[in-house]
Amino acid sequence: MSEVNPDNITNVIVSGKSGAGKQPRIDVLVEEFGLEHLSTGDIFRGYLGKFNEYGYDGDLEIFWNDDGQRFIPDDKIAHGLGTDSEDVTLGMKAKYFVDKGLFVPDYITNALFESYFAKKNHRNQVLDGYPRTPEQSKFLLELLEKHDSKIDFIVLVDNSDERIIKRTIKRRICPECGKVYHLEYKPPKDGRCECGAKVIQRSDDTEEKIRSRLNEFKEKALPAINYLKDNGIPIVTVPGHLEKFTPENIRNSIMNEVKTLY
Ligand SMILES: [Zn+2]
Repeated sequence: MSEVNPDNITNVIVSGKSGAGKQPRIDVLVEEFGLEHLSTGDIFRGYLGKFNEYGYDGDLEIFWNDDGQRFIPDDKIAHGLGTDSEDVTLGMKAKYFVDKGLFVPDYITNALFESYFAKKNHRNQVLDGYPRTPEQSKFLLELLEKHDSKIDFIVLVDNSDERIIKRTIKRRICPECGKVYHLEYKPPKDGRCECGAKVIQRSDDTEEKIRSRLNEFKEKALPAINYLKDNGIPIVTVPGHLEKFTPENIRNSIMNEVKTLY
């Protein structure tokens, strides 16, 4: 087993069921390899924020082409919005689906990811929450090839459904910056986030919704990871549950596995 040279790491994916314990492993990868954490949640919040800041309050339906089941061309959207900011256009597209409570289609998620990943020069990222479908995996591989970049390995954080349900019920989130806390493992000081906002329990952290996310992971996200694996990207499995959840144990649980790849 040799040490891994951080200079050799371009991008890493961390995957796992929602609530499996990805965040502490992401923190280790960020620190060990000098990477940034790129989460799909942050990307969506970012583009929705750009759109909201821009302050367009017209009807979004005018940007939708009902016949073709798609948006009208981007230059027409830019004209309608009165800005040629790509970020605002992407934010509008995300908002169109989010506001209706509709599942965001892969081509929108891919477009948001592509734009944001480009801002990061397609490098030095820990991808979290993307890719989440085999279609997204296919898109990602093409994107990496186009920009002469790569995913070095995938870390799959494994945990049992029953343990996740118990853990997730104690999860708290910052409504302002999205930072995630846990009443046992990462308690917020005085019930507040580092940014000062009061942390809350998300309405979708109920058992029924947790089970539905666990199903979605098995049906879509796991096949997405298997698609990458079938295309030659190495994968290591890391236990989400540790008997003693110390910083050293967390670090070893992931780094010992990563080292086996080198
Ligand atoms: Zn916060």
